[in-house]
Amino acid sequence: MSHSDPFKEAAPVLEKIQRGGYEAYFVGGCVRDYLLKRPVADVDIATSATPQEIKALFKNTVDVGIEHGTVMIIEHGKGYEITTYRSETLYSDFRRPDGVQFVRSLKEDLKRRDFTINAMAMTVDYEVTDLYGGRHDLENGLIRTVGASEERFSEDALRMLRGARFASQLSFVIEEKTLGSMNELSPLLQHIAVERKRMEMDKLLMGKNWTTGLEYMVKAQFLPYLPHFPVTEEEINDFRQMAVQHLSANQRWALIMLKLEQSECESALKNWRLSKKRMNYIKDMIELYYQRMNHYWSFMEVYAWGKERVIQADRLYAAVNQLQSDEQNIGKLWEALPIYSQKDLVVNGKDLIAWSDRTAGPWMGSLFSDIEKAILEGRLDNSKSEIKKWVKEWHQK
Ligand code: ATP
Ligand code: MG
Repeated sequence: MSHSDPFKEAAPVLEKIQRGGYEAYFVGGCVRDYLLKRPVADVDIATSATPQEIKALFKNTVDVGIEHGTVMIIEHGKGYEITTYRSETLYSDFRRPDGVQFVRSLKEDLKRRDFTINAMAMTVDYEVTDLYGGRHDLENGLIRTVGASEERFSEDALRMLRGARFASQLSFVIEEKTLGSMNELSPLLQHIAVERKRMEMDKLLMGKNWTTGLEYMVKAQFLPYLPHFPVTEEEINDFRQMAVQHLSANQRWALIMLKLEQSECESALKNWRLSKKRMNYIKDMIELYYQRMNHYWSFMEVYAWGKERVIQADRLYAAVNQLQSDEQNIGKLWEALPIYSQKDLVVNGKDLIAWSDRTAGPWMGSLFSDIEKAILEGRLDNSKSEIKKWVKEWHQK
């Protein structure tokens, strides 16, 4: 654990709920990560108290998902999500329970959780409640549903994708029966909102063992039921050879989409509902990747796209082609740029008119870009006399 222990920090919150006469435990991902000795970012708390009872205990609360039984409380400037024990009764659309049933027993609450490794609770004294064999599965690196996997995936099909995501993050194996049900029930993924799928994909792509996660997606036949995601077993094998640890999620999306035609790529990213900003970034990465394939970086790319984008595209290119990334050189190109924008040109519109014997017009815009290009390509100096000569020739062409 790093310098601060999130469990110690949150202990007074649990103790306060307990003093109120209710049960309170740490649950889910934080217990799993604690037992795996992985860093725990934030803790989730489960309680027998209803949301109203929690709100009566704490001064400062925010309703973040009261219909699911979750209240956020603020203590010492930190927010904690506290969720009432619940069981999820009836599912008719493969994605959300028809009603949330609050219950008073921890056992019931743990039972509705997705995987055994996520279905453990822990006290402030680090005593673990493990009713479904979560510890055993943690020790053996297994992802297994709590209860019958066909039932659990039919209740909420997203769980299948979560399984592949945890395989990627934890380098775990999906237990055979669980994997069999994924295979059988993958069509149910059609019913899941793309946003939820995308959140899982982002986590899967950033997992330490992302190629294993991807492999499960192929093996369990998820791909036909997701927006276009063009990976094959062969490519996954290629990904294994690449040093991708420095690539962001967006760069990994770019890596996956690299082989698509531009228009296909655009529609795939749209269908995944990536934000405009992310989409543009990914498209830039792909475009720059192809420029780098044609020729080594030049003033043109650094000038047009900026140093950072080019460095990031270079990292992608280096990872795919198993090269060292060339950041220093790109930095040098940037430092040596003769101009950084058209404003840096030593001539202005008046000069162009005076040297051209013409009235102002659209020709000036194209002349400006031609001057800019000639300077960046090293064919022309950014000096008034040189540009004047060059402009005269330009008009003769
Ligand atoms: P992460 O580290 O990504 O936050 P996590 O295990 O905390 O992983 P969350 O999505 O934050 O995952 O969910 C918290 C807990 O809620 C899970 O550990 C699990 O017990 C339960 N849970 C989440 N999603 C589902 C689901 N779709 N079905 C059943 N239980 C779920
Ligand atoms: Mg979590």
